[in-house]
Amino acid sequence: MRRNTLTIVVPCYNEQEVLPETVKELGIILTKMQDENKVSEKSKLLFVNDGSHDETWKLISKYTKEYSYVTGVKFSRNYGHQNALLAGMSTCVDYSDMIITIDADLQDDVNAIPEMVDSYLNGYDVVYGVRNSRATDTFFKRRTALAFYGLMKRLGVHLIPDSADYRLLSKRATRALLRFQERNLFLRGMVPLVGYKSTKVYYARKERYAGTSKYPLGKMLHFALDGITSFSIAPIHLIMYLGIITVIISFICMIYTLVEKISGHVVSGWSSLMISIWLLGGIQLISISVIGEYVGKIFSEVKRRPRFTIETDTYTKKMEDQE
Ligand code: UDP
Ligand code: MG
Repeated sequence: MRRNTLTIVVPCYNEQEVLPETVKELGIILTKMQDENKVSEKSKLLFVNDGSHDETWKLISKYTKEYSYVTGVKFSRNYGHQNALLAGMSTCVDYSDMIITIDADLQDDVNAIPEMVDSYLNGYDVVYGVRNSRATDTFFKRRTALAFYGLMKRLGVHLIPDSADYRLLSKRATRALLRFQERNLFLRGMVPLVGYKSTKVYYARKERYAGTSKYPLGKMLHFALDGITSFSIAPIHLIMYLGIITVIISFICMIYTLVEKISGHVVSGWSSLMISIWLLGGIQLISISVIGEYVGKIFSEVKRRPRFTIETDTYTKKMEDQE
């Protein structure tokens, strides 16, 4: 029987503290699966260095020389987590039957990998890693994550709750995903749109093994906003409703003002004027910013800029040598 080739894609941005442990743990899992004849000897770890400023690439290069199953791709600069995942997948898809993406910080339990591979062997094209608890998250992150998934659901975006970018995709699912042309990537929203038979594997999410989070609050918020505006135009509809309500209220005000005037009361008018100016100004500003967000999105999409630039690729070289 022909054995399946697995590539594990690991995006890395300033991960020098955790990388030695990541290589060790993923290496153990991979070689074990090779020994059990579950995956082929061509299976690889593919580290994508996303423009790190520390020794990350030096380490990846060192391990590439040391271990036959370690390979790396180096970006010309920092392009972000989602682009790093995409670059990893597009680099290895021709040589791989299945691709697993996992963070470098060992928060995702590597022991779920053989289970994901089993699901693939049982005929699934997409296997989502779903965390069974958020015990290691802060209270704030738990609440905001819950609110975010709730909001996305109401906006009609299909997401798998508590799943992030730890998942397995078959070759054909990856090819389908790579045909999505958008620059503003929100992979966890895009993968369900690919279709195919999918399943979930549950795992416990741990604390980051070492180093600090590369997703500070600001970046996280930006990512969430991207997720909403890349997948739904509901906020624009909301503005329309808001506008309609405002117009209705202003009609009521108009009638009231006229009645007051006809009945001869002197309208001093200052407070009502101030309130309406502020209220309307606020609504207009919010509305413009929402529309601006979409216009900005269109702007960045029509430019069709490359989503990443690869400076060095030791993956393709190793695979070609192995052919
Ligand atoms: N990452 C990346 N580019 C970036 C930011 C993050 O490749 O610009 C990688 C990072 O190295 C890690 C993964 O994305 O492997 C997830 O980041 P992190 O663990 O810091 O996020 P958190 O788990 O705190 O949400
Ligand atoms: Mg993390």
